[in-house]
Amino acid sequence: MPSFNLAASQPESSILLIEDDPMIGLSLTRALNDTGMPVEWVRDGLEGERAIATQRYQLILLDLGLPNKSGLDILKALRERGDATPLLVITARDEVDDKVAGLESGADDYLVKPFGFNELMARVRAILRRTDEQNPIVIGNGEISLMLATHEASYRGKTLPLPAREFALLYILLDSPGTVFSREQIETRLYEWSREVGNNAVDVLIHYLRKKFDNEIIRNVRGIGWMVVKHPDATRS
Ligand code: CA
Repeated sequence: MPSFNLAASQPESSILLIEDDPMIGLSLTRALNDTGMPVEWVRDGLEGERAIATQRYQLILLDLGLPNKSGLDILKALRERGDATPLLVITARDEVDDKVAGLESGADDYLVKPFGFNELMARVRAILRRTDEQNPIVIGNGEISLMLATHEASYRGKTLPLPAREFALLYILLDSPGTVFSREQIETRLYEWSREVGNNAVDVLIHYLRKKFDNEIIRNVRGIGWMVVKHPDATRS
């Protein structure tokens, strides 16, 4: 399964999914991983509570109807402890009263099943963006910045979401502005994040990124590799 994992640099940057329905759990885990968000999936309320007690998460996706401990009890206990981890409740249609109780108990948002993945992602990004604004984790060279929580790039006042591998590649370059990376170096680092790096993948991703941003931002250093410039102002004259 392709998984873009920033765990090495951001130990708290994964999503905890507490959901007992195997179909929903599996498809959400896959879809979020494909978007570049590492997911830990647990299927029961007590397991969920254990996970929350032992690790920090960027976001919790919480089903309400769960074996052993209800989602609502998990949520109440979490907020009573003063834990403000962003939390999105996912509920079945017949649990709408619980949904209201969930919001009153401190959920950041809720979704009613069945929901489309795009809708879920929009909610997730909105919650993470709010978190980003309160506590930004940004890397960049001053002109492009990457928001790790939402996998968005912000460039000259515009914000655009990036597919997982483009984000990963830009992350590698922006982590070290002014350094030239060879194709092999980039491939090696991309492979740490996603096992599906095919032939020509780096060239294709660079091509997309240069189209999206600015040929001057990602410099092609002939015969050596690519870099982002250290001081973007120097690129303009
Ligand atoms: Ca359930």
